[in-house]
Amino acid sequence: MTMKKSDMEWKKILTLSQYNIMRMKGTEIPFLGEYNEHFEKGVYVCAACGVELFPSNTKFPSHCGWPSFYDKSKKAKIKENDDRSFFMQRTEVVCDNCGGHLGHVFNDGPKPTGLHYCINSAALKFIKK
Ligand code: FE
Repeated sequence: MTMKKSDMEWKKILTLSQYNIMRMKGTEIPFLGEYNEHFEKGVYVCAACGVELFPSNTKFPSHCGWPSFYDKSKKAKIKENDDRSFFMQRTEVVCDNCGGHLGHVFNDGPKPTGLHYCINSAALKFIKK
């Protein structure tokens, strides 16, 4: 992790929903996130630190209620953590540049990767190309 900030600093930088999701590992309400049904061409960057995370051409309509991608950007630094909270075994994905919680990755995604990055809209910022 290269960007280190205190809790107080993050509270100033992030919106309340960004803070709750990215710093407190919350989950936004399904189907209501800004990018759930968003399919424009561009890149999605980390809402907290701005590093590129997912290119729009890997986004797919998963109908699970959160923005879903089958691959990350080649430039993305994403860390995966074993997450056993809520009596589930999941893989948490975190922005490795700022330590912000993004969502989870599952194995029910489409080809060619079979991966399904299920990401909170509030953890992303879209940049149109
Ligand atoms: Fe980040």
